[in-house]
Amino acid sequence: MKQPAVIGIDLGGTNCRGAVVAGDGQLCFQRSIKTRIDAGFDSFWSRFVGFCRELIDEGRQQGYALEGLGLGFPGIVEKEGFVHVSPNLPALNGFAMADQLVSQLRLPVRIVNDANAIALGEARWGAGQEFSNFVMVTLGTGVGGGLIINRQLWTGADGAAGELGHITVEPRGRLCGCGAYGCLEQYASGPAIVRTCLELSNHYSGQGSHPSIKPCTAEEVAVAAVSGHPAALGACESAGRYLGQVLAGIANFLNLEGAVIGGGVSANLDLIMPSLREEIENRAFAIVARRMKVVPAALGDKAGILGAAHAIREMFKEVA
Ligand SMILES: [Zn+2]
Repeated sequence: MKQPAVIGIDLGGTNCRGAVVAGDGQLCFQRSIKTRIDAGFDSFWSRFVGFCRELIDEGRQQGYALEGLGLGFPGIVEKEGFVHVSPNLPALNGFAMADQLVSQLRLPVRIVNDANAIALGEARWGAGQEFSNFVMVTLGTGVGGGLIINRQLWTGADGAAGELGHITVEPRGRLCGCGAYGCLEQYASGPAIVRTCLELSNHYSGQGSHPSIKPCTAEEVAVAAVSGHPAALGACESAGRYLGQVLAGIANFLNLEGAVIGGGVSANLDLIMPSLREEIENRAFAIVARRMKVVPAALGDKAGILGAAHAIREMFKEVA
């Protein structure tokens, strides 16, 4: 008998990665292509559909019975798989992506936000397994979020829930790509950590107290912080404070068991964690602060693929 499996795909602004995922969470084989949205919508779409077909064909040749396809998408996706808005892939705004995929691939399809997919992956197979209720935070180029309530993804009335990166932390602060001022994303993402570090470095070098540094990535900030540069240490501490303030508010509101922190800036996580924890302790009620464990994500860059696979399986359960 053929083993049942689904396709999980993690579509990013730069890379698109996918795999055939068996019921036990094993990635049977992985493939990737460059997203290349700059080549235009038509070119992207034909290559993307070809990529999906290649995964489906290989999966079938290897003896899997493919039941559906789950996709983690970088943007706000309405419940029916309609792309509301995507900052990284604006050519897809307003596109009925799930309907188009279903008609071209002849498989059931579910599309969820990329950070929501990571939340589902960590919930099912990663650091979220120990919690029934937790918030997922992804710190990378942006700040993403996902909310797991009773082991289910909370997507909200329109499918747009979980946009934790766009909670205001400075009402007159840095302008965000979403059009608002002072979003968390502008203070805790990788580029934001670099920006804060450069600002602090200018301050310290202006005082003549420390040589200036010019990191280009959050990872370079982490290296400078470990070597003791106060601008780099200050930038990581600042990111932790802003994220901790938001998590304290979420803890007070929802009394969750955990927060799982993942994403591309994992090198900075140890440096962010003390101030983050301190803010939760100082701002949340003792009972909810004590309850909320803050843990690093466990699945690395596999979380999105695994979560997308889990999302389509969950859809089958909802329909059944
Ligand atoms: Zn924003």
